[in-house]
Amino acid sequence: MGIFDRMEQDGQEQVLCCYDKATGLKSIIAIHDTTLGPALGGCRMWPYPGEEEALEDALRLSRGMTYKSAASGQNHGGGKAVIWGNPRTDKSEELFRAFGKFVHTLGGRFFTGTDVGTEKNDFVYSTMESPYLVGLPEEHGGSGDSSIITAFGVWKGIKAAAAHVWGSDSLGGKRIAVQGAGKVGGHLIEHLLDEGAVITVTDVVHQNIQRVQQAFPNVAAVSTDAIYDVDCDIFAPCALGGIINDETIPRLKCRVVAGAANNQLLEPRHGDELHRRNILYAPDYVINAGGLIQVADELMGYHHDRAFRKTAGIYGMLGQIFEISRQEAIPTYLAADRLAERRIAKIGQLNRLYVAE
Ligand code: NAD
Repeated sequence: MGIFDRMEQDGQEQVLCCYDKATGLKSIIAIHDTTLGPALGGCRMWPYPGEEEALEDALRLSRGMTYKSAASGQNHGGGKAVIWGNPRTDKSEELFRAFGKFVHTLGGRFFTGTDVGTEKNDFVYSTMESPYLVGLPEEHGGSGDSSIITAFGVWKGIKAAAAHVWGSDSLGGKRIAVQGAGKVGGHLIEHLLDEGAVITVTDVVHQNIQRVQQAFPNVAAVSTDAIYDVDCDIFAPCALGGIINDETIPRLKCRVVAGAANNQLLEPRHGDELHRRNILYAPDYVINAGGLIQVADELMGYHHDRAFRKTAGIYGMLGQIFEISRQEAIPTYLAADRLAERRIAKIGQLNRLYVAE
């Protein structure tokens, strides 16, 4: 498929290929939609097998960011950057400064920061060339670790799901299986235990399980594969994407799937299957929007309480999505897309009002 056909298919606005012969930088910046405001989305660094895969990733992820920003009430559009390279061996000051220069050429149409393969200190170099970077370390005016606010939002989202299914958002006594005791999973477990939930955890890294059990001896642990078979009320994926699939769905014994991981559904049809089985799915890009809300807040001068207040709004957003899903008899992942599209249409039409500069 030609590039314009591909852009037309997704409604992409702009694709920028950046090459710097001195540093060897090869980067693609995709801006999907700026109806709501400047595009916001991370910069991924990955050793893609070829340029087609790099382009496809940039396009797919930038579209996802449009929906994530819109559904979480941000005045931002969606964009994403990819750097084609090996994050272990190819990073340098000059590479990230060259990347910063290209970001700057977009004049504020696109803001970016960390994603898979990059970390906040990489972009300290990029800020030497452009102010259009977010998610920076606190000593550079950034908002710091986003996993704390992400876990807070996931906890609120789990409560919204509980309210929808059981008529009360109390998690006291609810049996919750948490996949992944990393940064977000670890903070989430603390919120859940504070409410009296009964936790089973798994992680591929045994030390992460040990760390949780040392702090909270009443947390049970199972092997990584056994987590899908745990008899529980809520399954909270906080590790990998693609874990809701043909193999795992028949094994789930929960009533709710709600967790932090990105791209939880292997394919959209797996969202249909959860719906058919009456398992309530909290769409990932809505429930895990806390990190995005935090970096978007940085652009207004980061205010901790404001960012947490907005993140608490994930509760209400998911409530609306569950209601759209019920009323229109559609799966929740489609209801989330509808909510995002409605916001883009409603706020976007304000542009028709002429205001003198
Ligand atoms: P992390 O790397 O700190 O934690 C992930 C954990 O999952 C690690 O402890 C890892 O050992 C474990 N893990 C990996 N494979 C596993 C498997 N097969 N079974 C069980 N455990 C496994 O990452 P994180 O920041 O906690 O993010 C967790 C998820 O949430 C990711 O999907 C991430 O994309 C998503 N997310 C994170 C943020 C954020 O602010 N950090 C924001 C939005 C979404």
